[in-house]
Amino acid sequence: MNHIRLIGAPTDIGASRRGASMGPEALRVANLQQALQLHGLQVSDGGDVVGPANPQQEPVDGWRHLQQVAQWNRSVHAAVYGSLQQGQLPVLLGGDHALAIGSIGAVAQYCREQGKKLLVLWLDAHADANTHTSTPTGNIHGMPVTCLLGIGPEVLTGIGGQSPALAPAAMRQIGIRSVDREEKQQLRELGLQVFDMRHIDEYGMRVTMEQALAGMDAQTHLHVSFDIDFLDPAVAPGVGTAVPGGPTYRETQLCMEMIADTARLASLDIMELNPACDVRNQTAELVVELVESLFGKSTLIRL
Ligand code: MG
Ligand code: MG
Repeated sequence: MNHIRLIGAPTDIGASRRGASMGPEALRVANLQQALQLHGLQVSDGGDVVGPANPQQEPVDGWRHLQQVAQWNRSVHAAVYGSLQQGQLPVLLGGDHALAIGSIGAVAQYCREQGKKLLVLWLDAHADANTHTSTPTGNIHGMPVTCLLGIGPEVLTGIGGQSPALAPAAMRQIGIRSVDREEKQQLRELGLQVFDMRHIDEYGMRVTMEQALAGMDAQTHLHVSFDIDFLDPAVAPGVGTAVPGGPTYRETQLCMEMIADTARLASLDIMELNPACDVRNQTAELVVELVESLFGKSTLIRL
């Protein structure tokens, strides 16, 4: 795929703190499309998908805005799936991370149909593996991983045409440093491979990424779900749920460059950018730089 398609999903329907709905526009203002084009990539902006307004309601049975989240995810699924079918690499501009249900659901469906092996890298400060009983808030941006792994209501788990959308072995989480008590138990039961900050501290980003990217072959479709709060908030303040102690600017660059080196990146989510928390759009500008690296910009020509 040598054509990239940007897909905006301007909503904060799955989050407590509002503002991620402005994420797609902040990335456009930071010249994401133009920056990638300067590297010789073909990039089109497919505009925004649409969905219901944020009703700002209380949770019902542990879910906030379940029907609205499902509606947004169906729109995201259709746009991402359509892009893949047209041979265009989808880049979802979030929006909160609940939308990964539709995005990864579409990618998993496409991979099943094409006989491709899927590997999802989940870059995040949070595991996003709560359920409606373990969630302290009811916010669905804390539950997309469990939904993708088949735990949750059919209206979410079935979006990609099959539940579970993927097996736990198809996902590796990196940068995790904030996990709720019951969520820890959930991660253990699911058997998810988690490279938390302790792991990065002990082994460094290079070894961590070698481990996280291990086992890919020519048939592997690599999907990156990049929650901007993966980064240390000292360099990326523009997120709604910042957690200190994340990867530095250089560590994140290395992470992106090592993903680029695999030449297997075939779809991407850029999630949880919250311009209401940002300082003069600096986080959006940083994200554009990192995404340039993800698509192969490097300081020197490397062989
Ligand atoms: Mg997240
Ligand atoms: Mg997060």
